[in-house]
Amino acid sequence: MAVDFDTSVRFIPGIGPARAERFEKLGVNNFFDLINLFPRAYEDRTAIVPIADLSEGHSACVRAMVSNRVSHNRIRNGLELTKLRAVDETGLLHITFFNNRFVADKLSEGKTYIFYGVVKANGAQYEMTNPIFEAEEDFGSFTGRIVPIYPMTEGLTQKIVSKCIRTALDGCGDAVPDSIPEHIRVKYDLAPAKFAYENIHFPKDAESLSVARHRLVFEELFILSIGLHELKASRATVSTIPANPVDMEVFTSALPFSLTGAQQRAIHDSIGDFLSNRPASRLICGDVGSGKTMVAAACAYFWKQNGGQTALMVPTEILAEQHFAGLNCLLSPLGVNVALLTGSTPAAIKRQVYADLADGAIDLVIGTHALISEGVNFSDLRLVITDEQHRFGVSQRSALAAKGNFPHTLVMSATPIPRTLALIMYGDLDISVIDELPPGRQKIDTYVVGEDKRERAYNFAVKHMSDGHRVFVICPLVEENDSYDLKSVENFTVELQKGAFSGFQVGLMHGRLNPAEKEKVMRAFAEGQIQALVSTTVVEVGVDVPEATLMIVENPERFGLSQLHQLRGRVGRGKDKAFCILITNSKTERLQVLASTNDGFKISEEDLRLRGPGDFFGSRQHGLPSFKLADFASDIRSLTEAQEAAASLFNDGVDFNSDQYAGLRDRVMRLFSSAGNIFN
Ligand code: ADP
Ligand code: MG
Repeated sequence: MAVDFDTSVRFIPGIGPARAERFEKLGVNNFFDLINLFPRAYEDRTAIVPIADLSEGHSACVRAMVSNRVSHNRIRNGLELTKLRAVDETGLLHITFFNNRFVADKLSEGKTYIFYGVVKANGAQYEMTNPIFEAEEDFGSFTGRIVPIYPMTEGLTQKIVSKCIRTALDGCGDAVPDSIPEHIRVKYDLAPAKFAYENIHFPKDAESLSVARHRLVFEELFILSIGLHELKASRATVSTIPANPVDMEVFTSALPFSLTGAQQRAIHDSIGDFLSNRPASRLICGDVGSGKTMVAAACAYFWKQNGGQTALMVPTEILAEQHFAGLNCLLSPLGVNVALLTGSTPAAIKRQVYADLADGAIDLVIGTHALISEGVNFSDLRLVITDEQHRFGVSQRSALAAKGNFPHTLVMSATPIPRTLALIMYGDLDISVIDELPPGRQKIDTYVVGEDKRERAYNFAVKHMSDGHRVFVICPLVEENDSYDLKSVENFTVELQKGAFSGFQVGLMHGRLNPAEKEKVMRAFAEGQIQALVSTTVVEVGVDVPEATLMIVENPERFGLSQLHQLRGRVGRGKDKAFCILITNSKTERLQVLASTNDGFKISEEDLRLRGPGDFFGSRQHGLPSFKLADFASDIRSLTEAQEAAASLFNDGVDFNSDQYAGLRDRVMRLFSSAGNIFN
């Protein structure tokens, strides 16, 4: 039978509809998927170790002769045991199989086998439980080589998966189109596709595996980069009138401080976009307190000088008010007319704002999603900025942008995403990173303590509140709407109110409250009617409560480091020294990173290393593809090279629709299948 990549796995001998369904669970429908089902790990079973040289806790292959008659014993209901001894020239190995009635028939006294398993030491003796084994003469099929371990699902086995992949490779391995153009493959010293697929699945040796993996990781990132370039390019077809240069000196000299280098770079990047003829889509990514608002202010000032309007959208009313107060104070002396628009703006004022926006009297409007409402029309909206962007969906952002004629957009994010990851997650945006804090920031002293220190933590909190300060107590909910969890947080709040914090007002904030209720609680806390606020993570959003000097976090082990870092950024926003106490009884090594540094980027790199990119991707619903092989913590170099290679093709102006690039086009389309045809 002639097969190709789109041949269904059903046509593999031995795979009926039932097993095909199992394969579907692994995301495998056809031969293409099959050869791209990469092992999640490998076991190196190449070396045979003499029994005397075995070491506890490690897996090893042993060549040994069975020295007793192998018999099968029923110990009690449901537990069956097969015990045997195996010897080589150097020693004796005890082997036990549980509930495997077939082994007794397969293993005979006096015959030599290769056993592979984890070694346990029992006194001076070594043991293996349920080892993999094969007869000496079969050495090399399941032992004696580097064996791939595939992701599994019920109803399949490693053997079945491995066999099917063999079939697929034999059937169409020669037809694997090389999606990497030859000159790029040579330049970056990459193995040919056929070699790579063969050796990722059936590695000849460790080096071939490493060469194969390198090529496939590069390919994955290269294909992604090409796709993202296409997405960006489709945006670039919209053109806009370039702005005129502005003397920013007036703005910078009005500031009570000098801008950090990173702020200047972000402003410079953004203005660079405004001066071009293509609408900006830029992510400004910077740690809590890195001064992103000033970048917004500078850009609004720039557009005022160009006669254009700016809208700044933030997720909560309090935040809008805070931004308004700060920016109005800074910008109105410079002739920028600033207005506030939220759900609770009184009707009469709202009407005035609508009118002033429509006739261009307002240069900068700051507000909540009220900005998207129907009555809002701009005279000439040129710049849309969204703050704390993970609170907004892409659709809300574009609804605001739709009020202008392809305005520039800036997205401010307080998640300090490692640059490598940002390039992927926001590959469709340009990125400016503010990786520098204004000088003189004090460190938030962070302590990881056990349950036994709880009382001391409470006393410390009481002291803060007695001094007129405020305290956050953060309780994680796995799911914001898990009512069981929520109940315990409610009980905990009552407990604190009646007990340790009885002299003070304790408030409660969680995701089930409606926006108005949330605002009310937050305001009471900001204004001091409430001194202790028990909250779930909804409090992350950047509200300034300068009096908050202490944060206590319950069950911090449930959170990612970056999230904890962002949470603690809620304290230490005033002139007083701030503290963060993480109370946990579980292992704390990971959390110590927080105690040792205040650098959000370092913390997120660490998070990425320890927990993988899932946490970061979780905060963005984007439909960008996920990765099979590339590992962001260690494949940074490949990522850079793959992006460089993709960019070079675009700079050379290649025609992706030509036959030469058919393989590449095919791969990009498969990867971005949900994004429609991006080559048009
Ligand atoms: P975020 O990036 O978290 O939005 P903000 O813009 O709210 O940070 O800035 C945090 C604080 O730092 C504000 O009080 C702001 O006035 C101050 N700030 C911003 N830039 C500088 C600077 N270059 N030097 C000193 N203080 C600054
Ligand atoms: Mg901010």
